[in-house]
Amino acid sequence: MFDTLSDRLNNVFDRLRGRGALGEKDVRDAMREVRIALLEADVALPVARDFIARVTERAIGQEVLKSVTPGQQVIKIVNDELITMLGGEDANAGEASPINLDVRPPAVVMMVGLQGSGKTTSTAKIAKLLKEKQGKKAMMASLDVNRPAAQEQLAVLGEQAGVATLPIVPGQQPVDIAKRALESAKLQNVDVLLLDTAGRLHVDEALMAEMKAVASVSTPAEVLLVVDALTGQDAVNVAQSFTDEVPLTGVVLTRMDGDARGGAALSMRAVTGKPIKFAGTGEKLDAIERFHPSRVADRILG
Ligand code: GDP
Repeated sequence: MFDTLSDRLNNVFDRLRGRGALGEKDVRDAMREVRIALLEADVALPVARDFIARVTERAIGQEVLKSVTPGQQVIKIVNDELITMLGGEDANAGEASPINLDVRPPAVVMMVGLQGSGKTTSTAKIAKLLKEKQGKKAMMASLDVNRPAAQEQLAVLGEQAGVATLPIVPGQQPVDIAKRALESAKLQNVDVLLLDTAGRLHVDEALMAEMKAVASVSTPAEVLLVVDALTGQDAVNVAQSFTDEVPLTGVVLTRMDGDARGGAALSMRAVTGKPIKFAGTGEKLDAIERFHPSRVADRILG
């Protein structure tokens, strides 16, 4: 993950570190290389541009160039701005964005996304993580009545994860399944109910209407969009389309394990304004991590 970007940035930084004094031109030359490295990592152009502008403005300040270790200071600025790019502007930008379960139980986590993005797998991974790491009583329900065997797939994953799934009632439609899941979760004192909604091949109106209908009957505490990191800027565009239609609270970025470039991870927050809350790192149900911008920045610059 981020291998090429990391190598290229470190080359630039080694050169900066190796020099005693730095002038404005040195900073601008270095930033030109950083910009190319970001674009080659498939970072969205406006995000790369904004990043370079912010770093340059801070780095050519007198207190940096006149300091004893100007190279070190520039690297520190890159690190800070990378965290902002990954995590946003607020003071806690470096920390993982929390999952909001702070509502009267059951807290509903609605999972949305395109077909094949890893939505069903991520639903089971998050349920397992909440159960094992946060001691939550979790339950899952599949509202995917389009894809044959989608409901059975979630039931199988539930067995593997040790998390209950709502029994399947053939022919029942998504909104009714959501209502039944809520009733059942209340009766069983479930803390978190995860709703795995139907995927589609493309963002379309019918999909959005269904998302809205499900959201209106289940008042989710979290609406998490699952997108595939390997699709790069397409993942960011999908997130943008969903953001315009449903009140997303965060993103789950899957297949980070196979993503050598990292463009989706790097541009998601800046383009969509939505935090990446989880990163999928493999096919197994334990292969999921909270997304810590500061740790990701360390990995890139490490
Ligand atoms: P859905 O159609 O969005 O529900 O997608 P699925 O959950 O069925 O996942 C599609 C495929 O992607 C399955 O083979 C999963 O095992 C795989 N997958 C999901 N998440 C990840 C991930 O983070 N890394 C890897 N390598 N594979 C994943």
